[in-house]
Formats: sequence, structure tokens, C-alpha cells
Amino acid sequence: MLKKSLIIYVLIFIPLISCSSQEKKKEVMNKKPMNMTEQDWKNKLTPEQYHILREKGTEYPNTGAFNLHFEKGNYHCAGCDALLFYSTQKFKSSCGWPSFDDAVKDAIEYKLDKSHFMVRTEILCKNCGGHLGHIFDDGPTQTGQRYCVNSISLIFKKDE
Ligand SMILES: [Zn+2]
Repeated sequence: MLKKSLIIYVLIFIPLISCSSQEKKKEVMNKKPMNMTEQDWKNKLTPEQYHILREKGTEYPNTGAFNLHFEKGNYHCAGCDALLFYSTQKFKSSCGWPSFDDAVKDAIEYKLDKSHFMVRTEILCKNCGGHLGHIFDDGPTQTGQRYCVNSISLIFKKDE
């Protein structure tokens, strides 16, 4: 009797569980970034992406995939796919993180950040609020700006 009810349980409930988790994933993908809850972000992002984008983490210097990456193409937000930087805005920096001297127009939000006993300007994706890094005014090019960005916050799309 017990065995039979266990089989019934497995037959009825397991497919229900797997179906509902798939539905959930679909739901998250279709949601607008601003309407997503932290749980939605956890479902969508890898743990590393979640830590940097949503918890304002910082990847270790000189470890990011795009630190010394100079292919032609575009850099998009890893959280919502919004276009953030062009490869023409990237320059070689010795700071240990991907650095850009400018950004795509209206793609970035700037926010005063007084954490870690420093006064810095945080940069975020304007579309989803994902943390990208910080901006400094010690850039070596004409703009004088250095957008210091975590590789994990970015997705690169090569020029075809
Ligand atoms: Zn975004």
C-alpha cells in the first residue's frame, strides 16, 4: 500500500515540479529588468554575475576575461543585454580591469558611492540597475575618463 502511494506520488508530483520550474525560468526571461525581484535575478544569473551585478562585488584584478581583450565589437550588459560600450572606447590600462574612455550614450547611470572609506562614482547599467564598476577622471585619452568595469558584468559581441 505504501509502495503504491509512493509511486502515485512520484508519477503525479515530480512532473509537476519540473514543469513549474521550467515555467518559472521562462517567466523570468520575459520579465522587464526593472520588474525583476532579487530571486528572479538569482534564477537568471550565474552566482558570479549575481555577486557583481546585484551585490556590487568586484572581481579580482587581472583575472577578468576582457581585461586585455581588444577584438572589434560591442560590450553588452550581462544582466539585461543592453549595449554599454563599443570596442573603440576601450583602451589598454594597467589597473587590472577592462577600461573604457567613454560609454554608449544614455546607457550608464552614475551614482555617488561612499563605501569602503572612499568617495567614488559608481557606474550602473541604466536599463537594469546592474553594477558595472566605477568611473575615474584619470583616463589617459582625450576624454580624461576611465570607466573601470568588471568583465563579469559584460558580454562581448564580436563585429560580424
Ligand atoms: Zn543591464
